[in-house]
Amino acid sequence: MPPRIDPKKCNGCEGREESHCEEACPGNLMYVGEDGKSHCRSLRDCWDCMSCTKACPRNAIETRVPYQLGYHLARLTPLMGKNSITWKCVDIHGNEETFKYRNRMDK
Ligand code: SF4
Ligand code: SF4
Repeated sequence: MPPRIDPKKCNGCEGREESHCEEACPGNLMYVGEDGKSHCRSLRDCWDCMSCTKACPRNAIETRVPYQLGYHLARLTPLMGKNSITWKCVDIHGNEETFKYRNRMDK
């Protein structure tokens, strides 16, 4: 499922030449629009790699869980730590669970 950007959290990377999510997307799908907010230019071309989601320093992007797995209210949000990533999973009833993993940079 394509990323969902929270316009209240997204600040367009404050005029950075290339936003973090834009830089991270291997398909060149993310861009900052004239409204100063990030958008995905072609939802159907997104292959759910979550690179943009993890790259956002403001946690403004969340990944929708595919309909077959969690219906439209379920979502995943990563919280990037220095040596770890914590995934917050919200199910269709609003229940939250977190899963913390060491990332590849950890020693
Ligand atoms: S990385 Fe986050 S804050 Fe920056 S433009 Fe993308 S969604 Fe907005
Ligand atoms: S999930 Fe991956 S392919 Fe989809 S918009 Fe984000 S970075 Fe691009």
